[in-house]
Amino acid sequence: FTGLRVICVAFLAVKWTSPGFDAESLRGARVLVTGASTGIGEQIAYHYARYGAQIVITARREKVLQQVSEKCLSLGAQKALYIAGDMASESDPDKVVDFALAKLGGLDYLVLNHIGSSPFSMWDGDVEHTRWLMKVNFFSYVQMAWKALDSLEQSKGSLVIVSSVLGKMPAPFVAPYTSTKFALNGFFGALQHELSMKKSNVSISICTLGLIDTDSAMEKIRGIIDAKPYPATEAALNIIITGATRQLELYYPWSTYIMNLSKDWFPSVTNYVVQSSYNYSP
Ligand code: NDP
Repeated sequence: FTGLRVICVAFLAVKWTSPGFDAESLRGARVLVTGASTGIGEQIAYHYARYGAQIVITARREKVLQQVSEKCLSLGAQKALYIAGDMASESDPDKVVDFALAKLGGLDYLVLNHIGSSPFSMWDGDVEHTRWLMKVNFFSYVQMAWKALDSLEQSKGSLVIVSSVLGKMPAPFVAPYTSTKFALNGFFGALQHELSMKKSNVSISICTLGLIDTDSAMEKIRGIIDAKPYPATEAALNIIITGATRQLELYYPWSTYIMNLSKDWFPSVTNYVVQSSYNYSP
C-alpha cells in the first residue's frame, strides 16, 4: 500500500504542476463567457474583469446581465458588454458569438459554461426534457465553438468547456444532465485530437468540476446529499488558469480525478459509495 501511495502522490504531483500562469496575458484579452448571470459563470466574468480583460457575457436574463457587467467594469474590465440569448433557440448561439466578434473584433477565449435547469430526481420518462436539455447543454456548445473557431485560430485562442465529474461517471437523479456532460466530453475530446492532428492554434480545455456551492446546485441537493461543496470563485479561477495555460483538462477539486479513476478500478465499491451517499428510500 505504501508503494502504491508513493506512485499515486508522484503521479498527482506531476499532473498538477501546471505551466506558469501569466496574469498579464489576460489584460485586454477578448473573452466571451456563457451562463454568466449567476453561479460559476458570474465568478468567471469577475476574475477576467480583475485581470483587465474585454468581456462579453450572456445568459437569458438581461437585467441581471446588466448588473454583472457593471460590476465587471468596476472591477477593472477594459470592456464589459452583455447580450441576452436563449441557448435552446436555433439562432441565439450564432447571434451571441457574432455579437462578441463584432464588438471585440475577434475572440481570444470562448468559455462555454451555461446549463439549462433540470430536475434532481429519478428519471420519469420525460424524453422531451432530455431533448431540450441536449439543445441547451450540448448542441449550443457545438454551434458556438464552430462559429468562433476561425477567430480563435487567428488569435491562437482557447476554447474552455465547463463540464462535470458527472460527464465522466454517471450518478442517480441526473440522467438527462449527466448525458449532456458525457456528450460534451466525447465531442470536445474528439475535437482536441483533431485540432492537434491539424496543428491548429486553438487549444481546448475540458474542466471537470465536483460539487460547487452555487445557489442552484445547493438548492437541488439539499436534504438528499450531504457533501462538502467547493467555492464557486475558486472553481472559476481554476477554470481561467486552465484556459490561459492551454491545459487539456482540469479536475477541480482534485478528488474528482480520484473519483474518475475509482469508477474504472473499483466499479462495485464506487457504485456502492455513490448510491449510499443519497438520502433515498423507495
Ligand atoms: P447556474 O445554474 O448557477 O447558472 C447557469 C447559468 O446558465 C445562468 O447564468 C443561467 O442564466 C444560464 N442559463 C440557464 N438556462 C439558459 C438558457 N436556456 N440559455 C442561456 N443561458 C441559460 O450553474 P452553475 O454555476 O452551478 O454551473 C455552471 C457550470 O458548472 C455548468 O456547466 C455546470 O454543469 C458546471 N458544474 C457545476 C457544478 C455545481 O455543483 N455547481 C458541478 C459540476 C459542474 P439565466 O437564468 O439568466 O439564463
